[in-house]
Amino acid sequence: MGFLEKVYERSPLPFQNLMTTVAGYQKNRTRYGQIYWEHRAFLREFDNWPLDRQQAYQMEELKKLLAFAVAHSDFYRELYAGIDVASIQRIEDLQRLPIVDKEALRVNLSRVQTQGEKGAVVEHTGGTTGKSLVVLQRVSDSMRRMATLDHFKARVGFEHRRMKRATFNGKHIVPPGQKSKVFWRYNAACKQMIYSSFFITEDNIPYYLNGLRRFQPDALDGFFTCMTDIAHYLHRKGEKPGFSPKAIFPTSETVSPLGRALLEEVFGCKVYDQYASSEGAPFVTDCAHQTLHMDLSSGVLEHFGENDEVLITSFSTYATPLIRYRIGDSMIFAPEGTTCPCGMQAPVVESIQGRSLDFLYTPQGARVNAGNVANLLKNMPNAVIRAQFRQVKLDEITALLEVDKSLYREEHDRLLRQEFLHKFGPQMRVNIEHLDEIPRETSGKFRMIKNDVQL
Ligand SMILES: [Zn+2]
Repeated sequence: MGFLEKVYERSPLPFQNLMTTVAGYQKNRTRYGQIYWEHRAFLREFDNWPLDRQQAYQMEELKKLLAFAVAHSDFYRELYAGIDVASIQRIEDLQRLPIVDKEALRVNLSRVQTQGEKGAVVEHTGGTTGKSLVVLQRVSDSMRRMATLDHFKARVGFEHRRMKRATFNGKHIVPPGQKSKVFWRYNAACKQMIYSSFFITEDNIPYYLNGLRRFQPDALDGFFTCMTDIAHYLHRKGEKPGFSPKAIFPTSETVSPLGRALLEEVFGCKVYDQYASSEGAPFVTDCAHQTLHMDLSSGVLEHFGENDEVLITSFSTYATPLIRYRIGDSMIFAPEGTTCPCGMQAPVVESIQGRSLDFLYTPQGARVNAGNVANLLKNMPNAVIRAQFRQVKLDEITALLEVDKSLYREEHDRLLRQEFLHKFGPQMRVNIEHLDEIPRETSGKFRMIKNDVQL
């Protein structure tokens, strides 16, 4: 544990808020500057460009990135030896370049990087895939990424740092052993109340709600399951939230259709989804019509192999270039020429299938994706508080359920088994266990699916 963390944990709560705010201002220095504002203005224009102009811009940015990587990254110079990178003139030409997977990036990281840590923003990527990485970012790239995210939110009426937002994340803001029920800290630098994801239990949710009602956030963002846990609670109790967010922006976890509908009903506003990884992937964001659009100014997304997996090439990764990088996520692209009533011509993405680990296997080895797994619970939408499905063997799944005991009936177990039978066939052995609380990951995220089977 670092010195500052020790000081933080021994400080009284108001001082912890102050430290959170100071850290917030420090972070802002690498996020908001002239480049940020210039990029915000550029993106407002870019949204209105016709598709061919957007694609031409994308191609120019791609050429710049490729030339830079060959000139400054030892890894890419060797990887592309014998390939005439300058001959890449169309997006399809990218296929001449080899794919980079997570293991190759991890093993060669220092040779991939084009600069040292000095003057760079250091991003730690999530360890959900078992490979956590430290990725360097130029300050200018960090500012452009922040501008893109804030532009996406501004499009639907939320102006970052002018309005208040409640964030649910896995930061360790509550010291172990804290007696009081204050599970949040304030980052005044961003008008952001940070709510810890680690204490959201049935008993604690009333405290979270009191905090939220006092804060009156204009938007909610962060971990999807934290928000759905609170929405479930309000729904079951028939309570009103007592605050009126303009929008909800989930991050980091797969957004399920059921959870999304619940959030919209309970909080009375729309949920806007986004795809942006901490490694620095290109952005895919919802427009005001809740249609996902690729942001061609931020990079290239290509399909690869089966299962709709994507390769990413990102224009905000000059310090750690990601080119044809197999990030492990899947997306379904809408057919070419699909239009959206919002008027933006940027290509439409039908759905983000989430992390490739977000699926279960049938005993025959077929994948059942997160959306279908969530649908196993569709016959008992209000009775289940949280569920987790664990697969350790190809023919055996354990369903852990945290249920509302006042609503859950024994026949629900039978209904769940029936759903399993339909989706996974008779060879699947299903164990159902009821727990008072399903533990979260050490990252603070909640995982609906834990699949240890490797095929
Ligand atoms: Zn649209």
